Amino acid sequence: MPATDIDFYELLGVSRDSDGATIKSAYRKLAMKHHPDRNPGCTESENTFKAVSAAYEVLKDPQKRAAYDRFGHAAFQQGGPGGGHAGADFGDIGDIFETIFGSAFGGGGGGRARARRGADLRYDMQIDLEDAFHGKSTEIEIEVSQNCDTCHGSGATPGTHARSCNLCGGQGKVRAKQGFFVVERPCPNCHGSGEVIASPCRDCRGEGRVDVAQKLAVDIPPGVDTGTRIRLSGKGEAGPRGAPSGDLYIFVHVKPHSIFQREGTTLATRVPISFTKAALGGSVDIPNLDGETATIEIPAGIQSGKQLRQRGAGMPVLQGRGRGDMIIEVAVETPTRLSKEQRGLLEQFRELETGDECPESRGFFDKLKTALRA
Ligand SMILES: [Zn+2]
Ligand SMILES: [Zn+2]
Repeated sequence: MPATDIDFYELLGVSRDSDGATIKSAYRKLAMKHHPDRNPGCTESENTFKAVSAAYEVLKDPQKRAAYDRFGHAAFQQGGPGGGHAGADFGDIGDIFETIFGSAFGGGGGGRARARRGADLRYDMQIDLEDAFHGKSTEIEIEVSQNCDTCHGSGATPGTHARSCNLCGGQGKVRAKQGFFVVERPCPNCHGSGEVIASPCRDCRGEGRVDVAQKLAVDIPPGVDTGTRIRLSGKGEAGPRGAPSGDLYIFVHVKPHSIFQREGTTLATRVPISFTKAALGGSVDIPNLDGETATIEIPAGIQSGKQLRQRGAGMPVLQGRGRGDMIIEVAVETPTRLSKEQRGLLEQFRELETGDECPESRGFFDKLKTALRA
């Protein structure tokens, strides 16, 4: 069984329902026993020490522990649970996993520090609400550093080779004492690669990478919102000297829309209606983002500010099923341009008013009278 599959609880020798204090004391015992200072030169102890430290790092933190209980080690590997899409905010634990677990087990016993990965890249993309609704396949052009063709990413002039670093003896890391502990740092001479290039490649100045404009196809899924990140795995910068590439993150920004406001999967809009429609009832047609027209029934006697909900007429659920709702806020518009005839009819209407037509106004003025009398 690969060491990375060992259960954190098993590593610490505690049960899954142990409390924080039990876990802490189990960790302390093991860490003391296997501490590199007490076992100089013993790789097995060192690996165990790193592994129990990694396990404790996760289990001591209730949030990380919950993530681990749910997803296992996958919670802390690249991309987080679910993989494939971005959004899992376990970045810092991922780093812990990489540095402690990765170096404890990832090297396959070779001893050399793992070559660094290329940097992750960020690309900000503005899209319309319509695109967020339907999803969109598009192409972007970005400058990405790629492996240099001349030296095939080695960084050394073709025909020459990198030699082992003198300072770290090719280990890529150096040890230094810090208080009680001996800590490892990437070697300052070879920057952790374990190799030094005597004759750097001219095209990439020994970096092994060159910047190239690259066109990339991007699929925006329906339902994205501002803040959604889309991860294109391995599309970031090439790693130094042939190391794996980083990832490219597309940060989505949805532009404001002229008609609809959006809150999650809910779309909201304010619809002016005539005062006759408000009084008598009727319907209004609202063009939706799906290209269809939703017909909304207006009940007789509706007031300004009243919100009507149209179920399933909102935004699609990102990577899910169904759609949110649409909220239509009614705004009753008082007529400002009346013909002579209309005016006459309204004056007739006023003669017929008893005050019972508008109970809220009547109630208000009654209350006012009482208050002023008092
Ligand atoms: Zn080169
Ligand atoms: Zn070195």
